[in-house]
Amino acid sequence: MTNLLFDGLLAGNDTANTFAETHDGRIYRYNDVMQDSARFANLLIERGVKPGDRVAVQVPKSVEALMLYLGTVRAGGVFLPLNTAYTVTEIEYFLNNATPRILVCDPARVDEYNEPTGSRGITLETLGATDESATATGSLAQALANADHTFENASCNKDDLAAILYTSGTTGRSKGAMLTHNNLLSNAKALVDCWQLTADDILLHALPIFHTHGLFVATNAILLASSSMLFLPGFDADKVIEGLPRATTMMGVPTFYTRLLEDPRLTGELVAPIRLFISGSAPLLAETHVAFEARTGKRILERYGMTETSIITSNPYTGERRAGTVGFPLPGVEIRITDAESGEIITNGETGSVEVKGPNVFKGYWQMPDKTQEDMRDDGFFITGDLGRIDEDGYLHIVGRAKDLIISGGYNIYPKELELLIDDIEGVQESAVFGVPHPDFGEGVVGVLVSTNGYTLREEDILEMLKGKVARFKQPKRLYLIDSLPRNTMGKVQKNILREQYKDTFSV
Ligand code: AMP
Repeated sequence: MTNLLFDGLLAGNDTANTFAETHDGRIYRYNDVMQDSARFANLLIERGVKPGDRVAVQVPKSVEALMLYLGTVRAGGVFLPLNTAYTVTEIEYFLNNATPRILVCDPARVDEYNEPTGSRGITLETLGATDESATATGSLAQALANADHTFENASCNKDDLAAILYTSGTTGRSKGAMLTHNNLLSNAKALVDCWQLTADDILLHALPIFHTHGLFVATNAILLASSSMLFLPGFDADKVIEGLPRATTMMGVPTFYTRLLEDPRLTGELVAPIRLFISGSAPLLAETHVAFEARTGKRILERYGMTETSIITSNPYTGERRAGTVGFPLPGVEIRITDAESGEIITNGETGSVEVKGPNVFKGYWQMPDKTQEDMRDDGFFITGDLGRIDEDGYLHIVGRAKDLIISGGYNIYPKELELLIDDIEGVQESAVFGVPHPDFGEGVVGVLVSTNGYTLREEDILEMLKGKVARFKQPKRLYLIDSLPRNTMGKVQKNILREQYKDTFSV
């Protein structure tokens, strides 16, 4: 029987090749991948998981957690990873919304989850981080030893669900993006092709695995290419610096790169064996791009994607990797820019709403047909909610989220334009610009900025410097110096937090 995603990812694997080397020195081969994923599939079936059932998972990062993902796919289940930072109240929302058959949690949290799962008839199991003997802990890990290492995969086709990933939901309730076998497989194929991954590659993996970046973008592409990973529990500068000379590629969020640049141990010599540094999930400042190349001689490849669509565009592997852009659509993927209000296609390089169509585009939001319809055009394009423009050479530039657009006195203001100008000012490390309620203008422009070590900045000086550079209606009315920008685990600036914090700036 065909299981499109599992067979597609693992059909050509070399069972003797290393899939992952863990921080505690375990070598995990493709043979182990085949056997442990079968064991997990058997354990899930024994616990009543049937094709289409959701398997909710909130566990620390481990190779076993990845095997639980593959085991779920083999059993025909729907993998539903959850951010480890979610509280029990947040988890209850996901249990109600997704009605999983089983929740697998960290052994340390089992007491919190007994009641919420028991009262809903959901089976509770645990899977923990590795112990001193480098093996995973928890009830499922224990049961693994006695489970059968062979499994006949459930038959799953193109449009069957493989996973539901909840979007981070900075406004309103989190939505479950339904991803099919073909969504994930087609994207992995496109990435292996674009980034030229082979069985000789070793990926330094320091990303979380509850998010599409570490889970699908990184892991699926590695599995498909039969490559290996140096699998770290998270981003720890010492561990990353130690691992880089043994890797050939790294996928990171922009904060990985800024943190590495702060470390004097980052040199061209250290990263000489790396053939490809990739960045995504949040904008990489052109300045970081330039500084990284100056220090290491390597040009970061920036790409763009989202939970609902996996990767949409990538800078080229060969050809110019253009700083401040996210490159071209992947093979088989189409993008277009439209007028946010009329939906008309914009072809003159102006900024508009970014829309995408292709085998990577998700099936819809779990049990939210209205929301799905709202975000899908009749001709199959998905409205990403990002604003962008395509330059004369075809590179896509992301200008920000549509919901971050500031409308002040009836004029549209793109925060990115102001952030770029502010970041250019000497002594400014980074900034974020956003709109807050204003009694006259609807919204007023406010910015926060972080100064470079050793610089003292004054609000009035910066406001003065901006005066000659942008039209008056765009100029921020207030700028605040802060210690650091609020970011989530993927390095995205949380403007919702800033808007809330500064909402009374203009209140009378
Ligand atoms: P998520 O669903 O958590 O992966 O978030 C997706 C969003 O992250 C996109 O809609 C973009 O707003 C943003 N994003 C991802 N990659 C980039 C990038 N390279 N540059 C700018 N924004 C990005």
